[in-house]
Formats: sequence, structure tokens, C-alpha cells
Amino acid sequence: MNKHKGLRILLGVLGGLALLAAGVWGLLFRVNRFTILLTPLGQAETILEYGQEYREPGAGAVLTGTLLWKEGIPLENPDIRISGEVNPRVLGRYEVDYRLDFLGCHAQARRRVTVVDTQCPVITLKEDPQDTPLRPGAYLEPGFTATDNYDGDITDRVICQQEKGVIRYAVVDSSGNPAYAQREIPFFDPDPPEIVLEGGETLVISVGSFYREPGYRATDEVDGDLTDRVTVAGEVDWLTPGTYPITYTVADGWENVASVTREVRVEAQPRPEILWPGRKTIYLTFDDGPGPYTGQLLDVLDRYGVKATFFVTDSGYDDMMAQIVRRGHSIGIHTVTHDYGQIYSSPEAYFDDLHRMQDIIYENTGVRTTLMRFPGGSSNTVSGESCQGVMTVLSEAVQDAGFQYFDWNVDSDDAGSARKAKTVYDNVVEGIRQTGVSLVLQHDIHPYSVEAVEDILQWGLNNGYTFAPLTQNSPGFHHGVNN
Ligand code: ZN
Repeated sequence: MNKHKGLRILLGVLGGLALLAAGVWGLLFRVNRFTILLTPLGQAETILEYGQEYREPGAGAVLTGTLLWKEGIPLENPDIRISGEVNPRVLGRYEVDYRLDFLGCHAQARRRVTVVDTQCPVITLKEDPQDTPLRPGAYLEPGFTATDNYDGDITDRVICQQEKGVIRYAVVDSSGNPAYAQREIPFFDPDPPEIVLEGGETLVISVGSFYREPGYRATDEVDGDLTDRVTVAGEVDWLTPGTYPITYTVADGWENVASVTREVRVEAQPRPEILWPGRKTIYLTFDDGPGPYTGQLLDVLDRYGVKATFFVTDSGYDDMMAQIVRRGHSIGIHTVTHDYGQIYSSPEAYFDDLHRMQDIIYENTGVRTTLMRFPGGSSNTVSGESCQGVMTVLSEAVQDAGFQYFDWNVDSDDAGSARKAKTVYDNVVEGIRQTGVSLVLQHDIHPYSVEAVEDILQWGLNNGYTFAPLTQNSPGFHHGVNN
């Protein structure tokens, strides 16, 4: 009796506990909020090469809850519905959708698949039956084909280019994949290149004009432009009359050599005839100006109706330069800089200075004068400090270049010890007395020298002298070269 009663109580307690557990579980299940996570297996964004088979990787589902299975439990064989198709035979973007309904929850996910063509086309060259070397222009294309895994036959899209004995083929498929091929043409080139000389095969320049290569072009039927490969041999001595050959040589890729020669003739200008004036002629010359006293000098000369000669520098008195010419005097070139070390450093430097001063005078007066005087005179020795023998070269070259240079036979010494008008006057008058025809050297940048001029004019006119400006036919009274 007691034994049965005890068993019943035990069962009752156990039953109560089970009911309680079931109640708690049910309550938990109700309060818990379930979620399903759906994920495409593998890569969610996939690239598929054109023609490859598409294998559906499927999706995985995980159940999670706010109270139960917080960590999530994977569902086995969930009933996932898959929609969307991938056609690997057509390029493009595809979407595959996954959906699942479970325990009243709905989940979905998407996979993107792109079908691409990354394979290059193939160019096939037909064999060249032309195995003997050809002349350019006689080449016949043996043919070619181009095929692509996606586009099929794309032969008509091939571009051919021919250069220097090579044919290059190129094609691109509709996805932008390129293909290239090339073949060499068995050219032979029997002809040498052609050289064309700018400025012609005969070129004449004047002594004293710098020779500058006028240019050339070399072309070859097969190799194209060969100008860069031309070698130029020969030199032109632009200071000495003569004929100078310049030879241009070039070889093409087949070792055909072309060579042409340009003859550069350096010609001397004819020297003008010297017309001696009558005795008692005075040429007054003034160097190194114009300067602040030149206007005063021009006024004095005007008053006596006397014309003189001015060997000018680039002194900044441009208006005076114009007045010298306007008032009937001769103008000649002295120098731009009067810098011995610079102008006598080489014949090039001298001629550069000479031409520049000639241009400056022309710009200011409209006269392109060929009269000139060497700074220091042709007998100077100071030039030897810069360039040995330069006066020997220049004294001939300037005349061949069409210039007439003038030294002097009466020196006023106004650049030396004569620092007073009276001394300048005495020196000049004494010099004139000792010569039949007088070429007088003065400098109009010295006030005492300009001051002496009126007395010199009066003395000369009173004693039956004639004052004259220099021309290209006047005697130069060349000193003789010392360097
Ligand atoms: Zn001077």
C-alpha cells in the first residue's frame, strides 16, 4: 500500500516537472524571434568565360533566433527555390535568385554572373609563294585569315601595314581582344637613296658672308627617310675666295651608297678703282662718335660748306647718325663695341661686329655703307693679344667682302697727348703741310678736337685746300699690317 502510494507521488512529481519544462519551452519558442540567412555559395559575383559550362553552386541557409540558436544553426537540405538562367553562349550579365520560406520566415539572395570573352582571335598567314626577292611595289599579298572564338571569321577586320620590308597585321574582336602577326617581305633594293640639296648643287657666297649649311634630305624607296644618316664632309673658308666642295654621303639598308657634292664658290667683290684727287685735298675724318659734340661740329662744317667723314660706333646718338647723312657727310663703319679683345678674337667675331654696325647705320640713315676703319687702324698690334695674324686675314678679307678700309696719313694725336685745341690744330696743319693729299684722323668725342676744327677749316680754305668726304674710290692710305 505505501509502496504504490510512493510510486504515484513520484510519477506525479515527474509529470509536473515535464509539464513545467514543456510550458517554459513553448513560452521560449513563442518569445524567440527567428531569422533565416540565405547566402550564395562560392562567389556572389562571378565571371564566366564564354563557352564554359555554368554549374549552379546553390545557396546555404542558416537559422538564427534572438533567444534560441543565437549562434545560428545551418539547415540541412532546405527547400530553396532558384530562379534565373545563365547562358554561357551569350555574353552579358545574369542574375540568379534564391528564395526560402521556413518557420514563417522569408529569405532571399542574389548571385551575379558575367559571361565574358577574353580569348584573343587568331591570325593565320598563308604561306608566301614568292620566295625570290622582290622589288618594292611588286609585292602581292599571299592572303590571311582571322578567326575568333566568339565573333567567328573576322578576316575583313584585319588591318595591314607595310614598312621597311615588314608587313604587320592586327585585328581586334568585338570584346577588344587583339591579335597581331607579321611577315617579312623578301625585298631587294637595287637603287641607292636620293639626296636632295636645299639651295642647289652650286652655291655662291661673298667673302665675309658666313657659310651655313643650307640643308639636305635623303630618301630611299625602301628605307624611307635617311636624312639623319647623311655624313657631310668638307669645309668652306668664307674668308678666302675659292671653290669648296662639300660632299654628302649616305647608304641604305642594302648598302647602296649615294653621294652628291655641293660646290660652294666664295667670291671676292671687285675692288673699286682708286681715283686720286688733286693735290691739296683734305679728307677730315672723325672716329668713335657720334657724341655730345657732334652737333656743334656739324654746325661748324655747315658754316664753311665743308663735307667730312664719320666712322661711327653704336654710341647711342642715333639722331646724330641720321643728321651726319642728312647734312651731306660720308658715314663709315667703325665698330659696335670698340672692344679690341672681343672684336679681334677671331675673323668671325670681327665680321659679326662689322655686319652689325653696318645694319645699325642702315637702320638709322638708310645708307648701307661699305666704308670702314679698323679700330686702332690696320697697323694695330693690340689685336695680336687676342688672335695672332688676324689683321693679315682681315685686311684682305674685308676688301674681298666689298668693304673699303681707310687708315690715315695725318694724325691729330687727339687720342694721345694732344689735349688742347691748339695742339690738335698744330698737329693737323703740320701734317697737311707734309702731304699732298691728306687723310686726317680726329675723334669727335673730344671737345678740344671739335674746337680745333674751325681754325683748321679757315687755315685750309685760306691756303687753297679743298675739303672732301671719302667715297669708295678714295685712296685708303693703308698703313701696312703688323699682325
Ligand atoms: Zn676708334
